[in-house]
Amino acid sequence: MYRTHTCGQLRLRDAGQTVTLAGWVQKVRNLGAMTFIDLRDRYGITQIAVEENSEPAVRETAARIGREFVLQVTGKVVERESKNLKMDTGEIEIVASQIVILNDAQTPPFTIEEHSDGGDDLRMKYRYLDLRRPPLQRAMILRHRMAHAVRTFLDSEGFLEIETPYLIKSTPEGARDFVVPSRMNPNQFYALPQSPQTLKQLLMVAGYDRYFQIVRCFRDEDLRADRQPEFTQIDCEMSFVEQEDVLDVFERMMRHMFREIAGVEIAERLPRMPWSEAMERFGSDKPDLRFGMEIHEISDLVKGSGFSLFDDAEYIGAVAAEGCATYTRKQIDELTEYVKRPQIGAKGLVWIRLDAEGGVKSSVDKFYTPEQLQTVAARCGAKSGDLVLAICGPKYKSLSQLCALRLELGNRLGLRDPKKFAPLWVVDFPMFEWDEETQRFYAMHHPFTSPKPEDVQYLESDPARVRANAYDFVCNGTEVGGGSIRIHDRQLQALIFKILGFTKEKAEEQFGFLMNAFSYGAPPHGGLAFGFDRMCSLFGGADSIRDYIAFPKNNAGRDVMLDAPSAIDRSQLDELFLDLKPVQ
Ligand code: ASP
Repeated sequence: MYRTHTCGQLRLRDAGQTVTLAGWVQKVRNLGAMTFIDLRDRYGITQIAVEENSEPAVRETAARIGREFVLQVTGKVVERESKNLKMDTGEIEIVASQIVILNDAQTPPFTIEEHSDGGDDLRMKYRYLDLRRPPLQRAMILRHRMAHAVRTFLDSEGFLEIETPYLIKSTPEGARDFVVPSRMNPNQFYALPQSPQTLKQLLMVAGYDRYFQIVRCFRDEDLRADRQPEFTQIDCEMSFVEQEDVLDVFERMMRHMFREIAGVEIAERLPRMPWSEAMERFGSDKPDLRFGMEIHEISDLVKGSGFSLFDDAEYIGAVAAEGCATYTRKQIDELTEYVKRPQIGAKGLVWIRLDAEGGVKSSVDKFYTPEQLQTVAARCGAKSGDLVLAICGPKYKSLSQLCALRLELGNRLGLRDPKKFAPLWVVDFPMFEWDEETQRFYAMHHPFTSPKPEDVQYLESDPARVRANAYDFVCNGTEVGGGSIRIHDRQLQALIFKILGFTKEKAEEQFGFLMNAFSYGAPPHGGLAFGFDRMCSLFGGADSIRDYIAFPKNNAGRDVMLDAPSAIDRSQLDELFLDLKPVQ
């Protein structure tokens, strides 16, 4: 037996017992007569004492050990003289009677403590050492508990967990596929699934009624802070359901998660906000409802007064920042610089200050009377002491810039408390999105999403007007999940492929299996998928999903620990009938 207890287990009530612990050396403090060793495992840290009158062999071993050595220590639990009440085991220590070095260790390249001195790259390279640190351990434990809570809830609702293959057919719609060459089928390729979308629909055709899977998905996209080339979804599908049935089950699942994991009670019924309303009020299809500061269109109030920037704009919108009338020139310049960043792309900011005495001052005083500016401020719900900031330009561009401004102000004013949760459903998404570059429509969700029955009449005449039976679960400005009611009719599916620019042959080649299945009795069905990594970071209160993935990739999509991707041998290429092209 390597140990009788873990390093987080012993308390004062265990004093007098002889125990054996095993773990890693976090710290050694040699005080001459006494040596103290902090021994760590994933359960906690226990202090080991080696005393002046300990066996010479014990003292000799203690003198040789360094950080991260793996030890087995036997000794007596005693009450500590100087207690450390910040530690669960801080009232006791073990007076060592035997120390066995199970393994030695090189000095680690960074400190393995709550706060490490190692930079990101170094910690990624030695991820197995970083994972020994308490914050990462807490993240992994949270992830485990979340997966467990999901399974318990969905099982209690009659969902079956069914695995779907990772080697599937390439359907490069949406993101780019990762592909895998087939040795047994020369010059042919599998793709790794971007999601099990079509497979879960086939499970509905197969009559499984309620399916879920905590499943890995793969997308070859450019990476951002909260994206990884492989990530995990809680993927779900149900038969004989309408939108409200799906929202009901998963709202209850989320209520269960918030209660079990975060100890938070969320509203009995979450708001359902149409996409168009989310865009108008928050400039985003994933509004952060933890704070107000909504966007208001002011075009009708400010056009036609000779200020050409506004006069020529399609849209002018503004937000009122509470208590920010005292912002200095410098602070306003900083905000202006912020919205002018290339990723946001605003031309500038117009400001109106409402001072405490009821006076008004603005960057456009030349063009507007104080009364006009007061009307604008009133539209935005501003009061004395507030600062109104306006942006103009093409409508949806300006709205997304106002959204960025609103979120930045929210950050600066401390209104985005990670311990507060404001979940909602965003519903009634447009079915299609027009892409200027390729001059074609794309499915806003995916090509299997059903249009709203009342909008089907516009499918061919005015696709942009068609709304979908699609919905997103949004919390604190993040899209945590999304899904839709699917098309289960062969003809309607064919029409959608046509609008999306597929020829009959192409649709047949890529999705023939699904269309075929639909001719054998497909039930009405719908579902959704939650981004599991994101859900973990939401509950854990962190921005990045990386901390919740045991072995993540870096921003260039590399696993720096494994050094992957990497070149493969000529012989492997030959087996796959592959030749490499030089990189230009
Ligand atoms: N497969 C979809 C996605 O990955 C989710 C769904 O519609 O169920 O976004």
